[in-house]
Amino acid sequence: MSSSSRVEAEENIATHTPSNKNENITVRIGLETHVQLITRSKLFCSCKNPVTLKEEPAPNTLVCDVCLGMPGTKPVLNKRVVEQAIMVALALNADPAKRTFFSRKTYFYPDMNKNYQITQYEIPIASGGWVEIEGDDSSKKKIRIRRIHIEEDPAKLVHRDGYTLVDYNRAGIPLLEIVTEPDFSSPREARAYLQKLVQILEYLGVYDSTTQATIKSDANISMEYNGIAGERVELKNITGTREIERALSYEVIRQLNVFRRGGVPSRETRAWDENVGVSKSLRMKEEEEEYGYIFDPDLPVIEIDENFIGKIGGNLPELPDEKRRRFMQQYGLKEKTAESLTADVEIADLFEKLCRSVSVKNAVTWTLVLMKTLNYHSMKYREAGIPDNWMVELVKAYEDGCYSDVVTEEILRKMVEEKQPMSVIVEKYKYPSLKDVGNLEEIIRKVVKGNRSAVEDYKAGRKEAINFLVGQVMKETRGGADPKKVREILESMLNES
Ligand code: ZN
Ligand code: MN
Repeated sequence: MSSSSRVEAEENIATHTPSNKNENITVRIGLETHVQLITRSKLFCSCKNPVTLKEEPAPNTLVCDVCLGMPGTKPVLNKRVVEQAIMVALALNADPAKRTFFSRKTYFYPDMNKNYQITQYEIPIASGGWVEIEGDDSSKKKIRIRRIHIEEDPAKLVHRDGYTLVDYNRAGIPLLEIVTEPDFSSPREARAYLQKLVQILEYLGVYDSTTQATIKSDANISMEYNGIAGERVELKNITGTREIERALSYEVIRQLNVFRRGGVPSRETRAWDENVGVSKSLRMKEEEEEYGYIFDPDLPVIEIDENFIGKIGGNLPELPDEKRRRFMQQYGLKEKTAESLTADVEIADLFEKLCRSVSVKNAVTWTLVLMKTLNYHSMKYREAGIPDNWMVELVKAYEDGCYSDVVTEEILRKMVEEKQPMSVIVEKYKYPSLKDVGNLEEIIRKVVKGNRSAVEDYKAGRKEAINFLVGQVMKETRGGADPKKVREILESMLNES
């Protein structure tokens, strides 16, 4: 293919869809995901791990001789990282290694000050395992995990005005690389897996999507088109869970276009550019062996004994799948509801707290309303700054009949927006309580007085005039009153006078 026809092929991607009837298409995708762990210190030195800091620190301020790769310095392994890696391994049904070590992956690149990255190659910290997702046919599907290993993050390159700066703050952040088998049949399945993975990592407390910690994936995609197999393409540098589906969808259509033009996708490495929404060819792929891995003599062999693994296994929190199943059993929830309520562990905890004070029905309803409100603000519950007891207080008040649905939802919304408890919101916005019937009667009396012609109409037999009066009371109470009750009081008032 000449270079001009190649450009043309790529420009036409958007006009093709992968759904022609007489085409037989198979997609196979595997993922290698790098997760920045939220430990206090870096992987091999005592420098602060910058990912959990509120603000990004000034460049090259969280560095020392070790993470700068100075000659003669020696790395010391952060034990917490090994613990977290084993937690993740057990949560993903993988087998932790009994004995493992670190290797040097040798390559030259300006972000790699030692000219090698300390990683695990020959024996990863864990291998095997699986994650269950909802497959494209809506049935449960197990995605097999091939390996999980620990490695250090390289420095960050900052490209600016035609030159490049290096920020070593990132050098030495602990990474967990999680590699799957090529088990995904579509970009959607890859996204479902990453969402599930993030959920599990957040349950374990080793990763937090509300911090600066990132999750980045490289994907390999191979396709078969009407019996013709294309070669495997690597797609690098895909950030987050949403971007994965977009990047992979682009790549699937790009390869499909090659097939449709009578070609076969060739083996190459491409980089995903999320700003432009296209992938670009980088190079023909090098093999792993070409990195010249060698044992790192600066770090001791790690022996992991059964007790250590057993202790970590015994302390694992309840994971999303188990919690979902328990919620269905214990609270009689439908699977989809249980899934929503367990998506975020803090939300799940809140829901259970609510269930101890109010009915399950009200707990479900108001947890879902809270989630909708948080979602509107693109916020996680733990970012909202609302203690559980504020929610308990509000839903209890609702259940006791203090506030209508409309007002309860409004108080909840203001609670999220202003980070204030119910009592402050109610006081500030003067929300009337349904409990305060005396107050309600007073309002109704005022409405009756102020709307003589509607009252006359009603008395003259035009009963529908009462609807107008109910509406006026609802307006006065800003939706705070129970319309049924208002109608009752109005009727008795109009009929006796
Ligand atoms: Zn350091
Ligand atoms: Mn890696």
